[in-house]
Amino acid sequence: MAIIGIDLGTTNSLACVYRDGRVERIPNELGEYKTSSAVSVLEDGTVLVGAAAKERLVSQPESTAASFKIWMGTEKTLTLAGRAFKPEELSALVLRQLLEDARRYLGEPVEEAVISVPAYFNDDQRCATKLAAQLAGLNVKRLINEPSAAALCHRYSAQTGDSQMMIVDFGGGTLDVSIVECFENIIEITAIAGDNRLGGDDIDRAIAAHFCRENGLMEETLDPILRASLYRQAETAKIALSSVPAASISLQQGDAQYSLVLTNELLRTLCAPVFQRVRAVIARAMKDRERGGRISDVILVGGSAQLTVFGDFLEELFGRRPHVAAAPDEIVALGVGLCAGIKERAEDLQDLVMTDVCPFSLGVATVNYAGDKTPHVTVLIPRSSMLPASRQERFVTLVNNQDTLRFEIYQGEGYFASENLKLGEVRVQVPPGPAGEQFALVTFTYDIDGILHVSAKSSGGDYRDKLILNPNLRLTEEGKAQAMERISQIQLAAQGSQRDQLLLERGLRVYRQAAGRWREMAAGLVGYWKQLMDRGSLIDRERSYEQVKERLDWLEAQAEADPFAADFWCDGSGDEEEELFGDISEEDAEE
Ligand code: ADP
Ligand code: MG
Repeated sequence: MAIIGIDLGTTNSLACVYRDGRVERIPNELGEYKTSSAVSVLEDGTVLVGAAAKERLVSQPESTAASFKIWMGTEKTLTLAGRAFKPEELSALVLRQLLEDARRYLGEPVEEAVISVPAYFNDDQRCATKLAAQLAGLNVKRLINEPSAAALCHRYSAQTGDSQMMIVDFGGGTLDVSIVECFENIIEITAIAGDNRLGGDDIDRAIAAHFCRENGLMEETLDPILRASLYRQAETAKIALSSVPAASISLQQGDAQYSLVLTNELLRTLCAPVFQRVRAVIARAMKDRERGGRISDVILVGGSAQLTVFGDFLEELFGRRPHVAAAPDEIVALGVGLCAGIKERAEDLQDLVMTDVCPFSLGVATVNYAGDKTPHVTVLIPRSSMLPASRQERFVTLVNNQDTLRFEIYQGEGYFASENLKLGEVRVQVPPGPAGEQFALVTFTYDIDGILHVSAKSSGGDYRDKLILNPNLRLTEEGKAQAMERISQIQLAAQGSQRDQLLLERGLRVYRQAAGRWREMAAGLVGYWKQLMDRGSLIDRERSYEQVKERLDWLEAQAEADPFAADFWCDGSGDEEEELFGDISEEDAEE
């Protein structure tokens, strides 16, 4: 049975499989490789995942969610159509859709996967990802850091010489920077740094905020539909700017029209605060390297890395324009696919070795004197240590005749223990004696699969150890069983319906966004298509699909065009559109 590789992205997800000596991307029902990581609950309780769900962010924001990966590992719940979902449950639904597509493509069920996560994901977030997989009925063979996957793919396909490269993955909601050394067939990640709240979404937000400022609107009080439309247009305009000099955004609220023309010049200004944060992350990765040396190549991956202004910014920073990966938004998935191949022990991949580093510091809470109320962390394994890593430290008693030494285990970069994530604790007995005489040796061993082994041995010979596998799965076995039950009862939208559903959802969104005559046209189109979906035969639908889609494309372009142009068309003759649209209901509805 195949093991698939999954890039479970904030914005988009992708699955790959290693077959016959190469990585294949698995297409979804729409024939696309990227599936939007968006989930929407339909009126009948079934769940849509992918592009059609993304459309519903605008038309049905109350029953739709996206970018929930940023909440992974937190207690946040999202409410969709009145039902509460944890982020890992929403991720599980995305995984179920990918599995369904893989099953159809491969002709066999898939039960095992390698999944990528941002390098900067902490243990809570990694555990939530594993839980999402379990809820989807998947056995996770390994979690791999996204930049490690990208490096693996780059190294494997480019067959570059021995070198040190920097991989900058700038996606929708996360930034990951890693430095990778390649020597013969060894790929070694030597440093990673990142920010899992920084990505293209922040740029969209900056554009939307600027739009509101310029137009004297209060973003918080905007109608949710208008707001969602604003974000959608901000993203479209941002992407367009990599190929055209200017793009416009417009909103209509009642009789009022608001608009903004976005240029690369303006985008550069709006992105400046985001880029400053990118710069800090890159600097941290450079400083964290255990060895120095020159970087021979900077490789850009992720959707946002395609922004012209991002390339400009990095060019200024590095003095040379970095190279955008051949398939910037697929390279991670391709790497995870290779990793799945390695797990399957594909013979031709045997000789690729990949090492990894610890993404965060691990240590124990210590106090400086008896009665010190704010323990700080003594780090045993600093972040960016090569894995597997093992370190030992000696800790002495603080008061006379102290009988136990207690070690709270923390993960994170904060100085005070309370700023970090507590993973567990170990206690050992010590023999009586003056303060500072009795001690314990604490050993941390962190292996490549992210399992932390902690042991403590006291001067009196007491020995305790602990394996921290899933330290933060706050869920009990019972709670997990209940979540699995809930998730498995949810029906994904019927097979074969995605294309049609997407067209309907797009139509509904355009209807909400459009005003006046455009809105009437959208209503006609949606009513017609809905009727075909509900009552028409398959043949009717096949016959009309292209035609309806073409009209919707045209209508969307009109509805989202510069408001002044729209005004012009409304008052003008508009013969062409009349004709294009006018024949729909009469001609086809009767067939
Ligand atoms: P993630 O890894 O977070 O799922 P991706 O790597 O697919 O995301 O990147 C998604 C982000 O990239 C979104 O913010 C999207 O707006 C942005 N994006 C996608 N294509 C482009 C493009 N051609 N130019 C600029 N930004 C893009
Ligand atoms: Mg990504």
